Amino acid sequence: MQEKEIVIIGAGYGGLRAAEHLCKKSQFHITLLDKNPYHYMQTELYGYIAGRFDMSDIAIDLESFTRGLGENVTFVQEEVVDIDAGAKEVVGRQKRYRYDYAILAAGAQTNFFSFIEGLREHTHGVKSIQRAFAFRQAFEKRLADKLQNKTFHRAGDLHIAIAGAGLSGVEIAAEMAYTLKRYEKILAQCSKRLMISLIDAAPTVLPGMDPYLIEKAHRRLEALGVQIRTEAFIEKIDARSITFRDGSEVAFDFIIFTAGIKAADLTEKLDTPKNSTGQIIPNDALEVKGYPGLYTIGDVTQIFDSSGKILPPTAQIAEKSAAYVADRINRQETGTSCKPFDAKMDGIFIALGGKYALGILYDKIRVEGYLAYILKKIITCFYRMGLEIKVNAGYRKRNLPSR
Ligand SMILES: Cc1cc2nc3c(=O)[nH]c(=O)nc-3n(C[C@H](O)[C@H](O)[C@H](O)COP(=O)(O)OP(=O)(O)OC[C@H]3O[C@@H](n4cnc5c(N)ncnc54)[C@H](O)[C@@H]3O)c2cc1C
Repeated sequence: MQEKEIVIIGAGYGGLRAAEHLCKKSQFHITLLDKNPYHYMQTELYGYIAGRFDMSDIAIDLESFTRGLGENVTFVQEEVVDIDAGAKEVVGRQKRYRYDYAILAAGAQTNFFSFIEGLREHTHGVKSIQRAFAFRQAFEKRLADKLQNKTFHRAGDLHIAIAGAGLSGVEIAAEMAYTLKRYEKILAQCSKRLMISLIDAAPTVLPGMDPYLIEKAHRRLEALGVQIRTEAFIEKIDARSITFRDGSEVAFDFIIFTAGIKAADLTEKLDTPKNSTGQIIPNDALEVKGYPGLYTIGDVTQIFDSSGKILPPTAQIAEKSAAYVADRINRQETGTSCKPFDAKMDGIFIALGGKYALGILYDKIRVEGYLAYILKKIITCFYRMGLEIKVNAGYRKRNLPSR
């Protein structure tokens, strides 16, 4: 039987899961493309920024990983710039890749809204490792300066602002505040107070999430000393201050923006229905309209649950949509039918500093504190272990002496 070519665009949570499923069939040859040489574990970012984890906890080498998957998978570091539906080719900066099936898994990026003056110029996102690294350094520098009791350029508190109190903003604020608490005995001697604030235009933190999570997270953040500022519409940001719609101003030393995402730039090139954030609106089998054989998964896709509600972009849904598409491609090859994609969240866990987390499972079971922390840790460890087994196998293959 002739090998079928499958090209996966993006090696995030969805792309890797799709490759893992498809590589089990020897009649497929899979080419995994990513503009970076590593897989970025964004869900662990909060611990990296606060100095609890290091780079090797959030990045996985893709060359070793794909070698570990098997002979029928190839990784190419490549930026994809277009998809040619007629020729069935993925267009990269270096070359074109013919496909029988392709999977768009290019994820999302920070949406620096143009209606907020100065946002793009003066804030940092966290959707890339380089930006996360810059933020970690800035945080560590503030801690070191405070330890030295340095005189700062301006009177008043040192202020790290996080604009966006969704899942990522809340996790980062909580972990940083927890780190500060741990250092309190030493740092309390110093004259300046290091303040962390969490800002959102919505009336609560974690907008749209279950009221249980909202209330508990709010309390935990307050207990950690995070200044919460909700219903705060940012109008303008300059190098040192935020101006709100009500005219008030707050000075900051460093700011990150976690309030919005939009689909990867590549979607702009595709002539298919999209929503206002550029996410592809596929058919109910996650196929991109007007692009036969091209599927779309994860954050780059608008996905509804069974009640018709748009699901927030999560690693969990990226992996589930990947498993569905891999199965669908298998079934297409064997001529068996396949049901539409049924997106369902099993639950959610939120890390809230140290060994404390919150979670809801299957809409019913609520967990809090150390137990939730352990459950979240187990989920992450399983994910990480699965990747590491392949990375280790691939690393050994790469380093075997040639005969
Ligand atoms: C701080 C933070 C905390 C989070 N916490 C959680 C959590 O606790 N639980 C949860 O479920 N989700 C969480 N998320 C969300 C989760 O990380 C995303 O939903 C998930 O990464 C989406 O997976 P994906 O495969 O669609 O995209 P991504 O993981 O973003 O991967 C996309 C990949 O595509 C590549 N790419 C993009 N454009 C191109 C191109 N043109 N050419 C080649 N390659 C390209 C990128 O380099 C990237 O590797 C969190 C996100 C953040 C930022």
